[in-house]
Amino acid sequence: MDLNYTAEDLAFRDQVRTYLEANLPQDLQQKVLNHKRLSREDFVRWHKILAKQGWVATGWPAEYGGTGWTATQRHIFEEECARAGTPAILPFGVNMVAPVIMAFGNQAQKDYYLPRILSCEDWWCQGYSEPGSGSDLASLKTRAERDGDHYIVNGQKTWTTLAQHADMIFCLVRTDTGVRKQEGISFLLIDMKTPGITVRPIIMLDEDHEVNEVFFDNVKVPVENLIGEENKGWTYAKYLLGHERTNIAAVGRAKRELQFLKRIAAKHQKNGLPLIDDAVYASKVASLEVELMALEITVLRVISQDSGRPGPEASLLKIKGTEIQQRLTELMVEAVGPYGLPFDPAFLEGETVHSIVGDDDAAPLAPYYFNFRKTSIYGGSNEIQKNIITQMILGL
Ligand SMILES: Cc1cc2nc3c(=O)[nH]c(=O)nc-3n(C[C@H](O)[C@H](O)[C@H](O)COP(=O)(O)OP(=O)(O)OC[C@H]3O[C@@H](n4cnc5c(N)ncnc54)[C@H](O)[C@@H]3O)c2cc1C
Repeated sequence: MDLNYTAEDLAFRDQVRTYLEANLPQDLQQKVLNHKRLSREDFVRWHKILAKQGWVATGWPAEYGGTGWTATQRHIFEEECARAGTPAILPFGVNMVAPVIMAFGNQAQKDYYLPRILSCEDWWCQGYSEPGSGSDLASLKTRAERDGDHYIVNGQKTWTTLAQHADMIFCLVRTDTGVRKQEGISFLLIDMKTPGITVRPIIMLDEDHEVNEVFFDNVKVPVENLIGEENKGWTYAKYLLGHERTNIAAVGRAKRELQFLKRIAAKHQKNGLPLIDDAVYASKVASLEVELMALEITVLRVISQDSGRPGPEASLLKIKGTEIQQRLTELMVEAVGPYGLPFDPAFLEGETVHSIVGDDDAAPLAPYYFNFRKTSIYGGSNEIQKNIITQMILGL
């Protein structure tokens, strides 16, 4: 197995790098590099810039408007975006519902939704989890009852990321209660403007409005918004989850954050010396760097065996990737010490001055640390990923 990039890969990397240098707006870059919050407009703006270049859908086949890149090219692109500090392309449309529409949707659904996802005309959110149905997702209770050429949907979703901005939600709904729980689920696409939908914010530990509760009260959904067959939604749901977990390792971003960590640890002092020269702290950073290098090699190994479909090894990347991300934020907070404690939300939202003692680097770090507790929970908690590994890789 050769894990080195070929000459073509390196030429591709240069092409991406040159493009990003010329096209990534500086204000967006500064927000990302400085751990500031991004608005809906920020995400949409970057999405539309990339769409002009035809680089939004790196995992889609060319026939649908994707780049048609190899897994290695996709990896290089993600690395370069992370290195430059681009906003993310939000996964809910491009990487989650789109592959499901391509694999299981009908022609009319493909023709209508896929171009709107590419152009960011529709902002999607994910309606899987419910109160009491997170890890045990198949126990979900939101009901969809057939009434002529519509479904009538009643129930509640929760933790719905950025639903406050969404035009569309893809939902798992129960269409049959008299069968095994996995067999009575369907996959519905719902317009968020439909009467009967209420979105309520859940404010996170860092005081950010990132997730929501979404309530459905007699919501009328046309039957043509059903994906595939009624009661086969669990198959489509699992297909989507495989795609959800592939990019969660976020090695490129972790590499950028490691450089940031080293920079702040060189600036802050312990016993009159830069913290990075403290033997105990330096050994923590070194062991994290070794873990990250090992993860990167593992990602490259997985990519080099790419079969086109993410397998259970995605679980392994999810666990390691999120552990490293969380550890990075822990070491950042440790580096700035008490300067990380004061909290100024306006500064995170884009104010250039803040009322906090300490420098600009330190001010966003405590909220960043708290926010990253989510990564071992979402996308299927890390404990659930371990269950998947024991069953599907170790065969226990
Ligand atoms: C920031 C954030 C954003 C999210 N965004 C979305 C979204 O956009 N759309 C969406 O549908 N969902 C979203 N989620 C929900 C997420 O998928 C669930 O939180 C996750 O699946 C865990 O479910 P739960 O919260 O119900 O916890 P539970 O399932 O109740 O789990 C509680 C604890 O028990 C452990 N546990 C549960 N079952 C087992 C088991 N069998 N073996 C071992 N340990 C177990 C879990 O690991 C966890 O530690 C988001 C969550 C967060 C935190």
